[in-house]
Amino acid sequence: MPVSIPKLGALPPAATFQETALAVAKLFCSDIPDRILEEIIATRLSFSPRLHQLDKNLFCLELFHGPTLAFKDFGASFMAGLMDFLLKDNNRILTILAATSGDTGSAVGQAFKNVSGVRVVLLYPSGKVSRIQEQQLTTIGGNVTALEVEGTFDDCQRLVKEAFQDKALQDCCPLSSANSINIGRLIPQIFYYVYLNVLLQSDLPPLVSVPSGNFGNLTAGIIAEKTGSSFSGFIAATNENDIVPHYLQTADFRPRPSVTTLSNAMDVGNPSNFERLIALFDGHSDIVKRIAGIKVDDATTELRTRKTFEETGYILDPHGAVACEALIQTLHLPRWKDVPGVFLGTAHPAKFPETVERVTGAVVPVPERLLDCQNRKKEAIPLDASYEELKDFLGTI
Ligand SMILES: *Cc1c(COP(=O)(O)O)cnc(C)c1O
Repeated sequence: MPVSIPKLGALPPAATFQETALAVAKLFCSDIPDRILEEIIATRLSFSPRLHQLDKNLFCLELFHGPTLAFKDFGASFMAGLMDFLLKDNNRILTILAATSGDTGSAVGQAFKNVSGVRVVLLYPSGKVSRIQEQQLTTIGGNVTALEVEGTFDDCQRLVKEAFQDKALQDCCPLSSANSINIGRLIPQIFYYVYLNVLLQSDLPPLVSVPSGNFGNLTAGIIAEKTGSSFSGFIAATNENDIVPHYLQTADFRPRPSVTTLSNAMDVGNPSNFERLIALFDGHSDIVKRIAGIKVDDATTELRTRKTFEETGYILDPHGAVACEALIQTLHLPRWKDVPGVFLGTAHPAKFPETVERVTGAVVPVPERLLDCQNRKKEAIPLDASYEELKDFLGTI
């Protein structure tokens, strides 16, 4: 964590996303030359968030216009740029080890593809990511290897954490994380919260609903607020895996095994960034002043997806639908009258055609980038959910 959160000065009027990103990056990466940050943003963050209005006070901040059509592209692409720069004079191969519940794998794999001196090993739970997500993360090739783990996402995350704690392994095989436990991925997520206020230009600051799993995204939002960007509040929107909403209601943090839902990238039973999140507050009574927790089950997620499509023609992905539903429930309270509500669109609906088409009856147009990987051959190495197996694999390649 940053020791303290620096304050952001005024941005140029009508700043572009890239100008906003640079201003924020300079604050947090002050030991990296400005011209390098500028180059990383120009080459790796050329895609921008877009604001889509659904109703008078209801907006989606679409974060899915990057290389793998997921918001994780912001974090992964910027972090890969930073590491490419920082590793220039390093002569040992670095292994990026990442557990993925769907979107992290392809975003990280694409971002680090062809970065020299780096190999990427992705662990994903067999049968628990969508077909398209699996195609995306098993067809990258080159320096990127996918391990298909016989287990849940929590198993994948546990194996990765165990490897990071294994000193002997790290001596022969230096490791780095690319999950949202890596601060290098959180920093670029601050950019779009600040940019949201540039786009919105509203008198009342927005109430932002964040579809959450490991809570990196929401943590970045709170950091953005602490740099001086204004928000009326935040919503921690989850599916049935409601560890954090439960904590907000009861002050009791109780991790438990994750359950599988339609919004599978949020199926997390022990959120990695919870410690970071609470470190930004002065205890439970402070955090509940800024964050409301709302759980949305699969049936309600489907209803919201159908209703939104029928009323506006807009197609939600299951993750965005959770955040949209949580936001609409909250905006009904008198206290939020006239406050613009924004939910984060974290994945393109074309990544979840089975659910979206079943619920709305609409066929989602598939962007070119996604079509491309559908035609390639899946390459994944099967792995039992045992640390010994992972260690053997990492030690022998
Ligand atoms: C990863 C992911 C999330 C959850 O983000 P966290 O930062 O882990 O809370 C939400 N939606 C989608 C589509 C994701 O891929």
